[in-house]
Amino acid sequence: MRLVIMGPPGAGKGTQSALISSKYGIPHVSTGDMFREILKRSDGLANRIRKYVESGELVPDELVVEMVRDRICRPDCEGGFILDGFPRTVAQAEALDRMLESAGKELNAVLYLRVSEEAVVRRLSRRRVCERCGAIYHLDYNPPKRPGVCDRCGGRLIQRDDDREEVIRERLRVYHEQTEPLINYYGEKGLLVEIDGCKEIHQVWEDVQRVLDPIASRGDC
Ligand code: ADP
Ligand code: AMP
Repeated sequence: MRLVIMGPPGAGKGTQSALISSKYGIPHVSTGDMFREILKRSDGLANRIRKYVESGELVPDELVVEMVRDRICRPDCEGGFILDGFPRTVAQAEALDRMLESAGKELNAVLYLRVSEEAVVRRLSRRRVCERCGAIYHLDYNPPKRPGVCDRCGGRLIQRDDDREEVIRERLRVYHEQTEPLINYYGEKGLLVEIDGCKEIHQVWEDVQRVLDPIASRGDC
């Protein structure tokens, strides 16, 4: 299955992508995670992208598109993937279409997690992530068993630098301006599946599986 998951920052894309990746056996390709990995280094590329990621702006399209092209050409993506955080602009979506077309492949579905702005702010301001494996927690809605420690790998849980109130506001502004047009873009292609992202994590997951199980069992993707 080749999937895109979209929605505002904090919609639950990373949370649902991890579940999807594990159940359906497809890699979770998160451009945000890839950028955060690059930022752990201090080379030229890290220096080029730092100011965008830290301020909640989008990294320039050509850089993101190249990074995704390299990633989805790797052998583990042969049987499909879930793209999380990409595309984020119409230009990126068009570039993805061209990439897939030249490989004779196509997207099976675009999951759109719809959530309210208040929910997003509540979720992001209390999100914690494992600095080692990237697992996602929430202090109230999905807390770790031991405070500050990742259940999965024992790594330290941290707050993302861009989960500060002023950066959250900017990321939401950028989302409305640059990413929301993709709802129409994929709607017109008949690929968009809207999912109520306001429900609890396990209920959203039920809804996601109800959409993906039939696609996965068709076996033509
Ligand atoms: P995104 O990848 O879209 O930015 P995340 O998956 O990181 O969003 O989720 C943002 C925060 O909200 C995390 O702290 C996560 O644990 C929490 N979360 C995710 N889905 C839900 C949900 N359905 N209900 C409540 N909290 C959620
Ligand atoms: P995320 O983890 O998806 O919230 O992304 C974190 C940050 O990485 C964003 O605020 C952007 O600065 C950058 N980023 C991630 N994906 C993209 C993308 N597709 N296009 C441009 N910038 C991106």
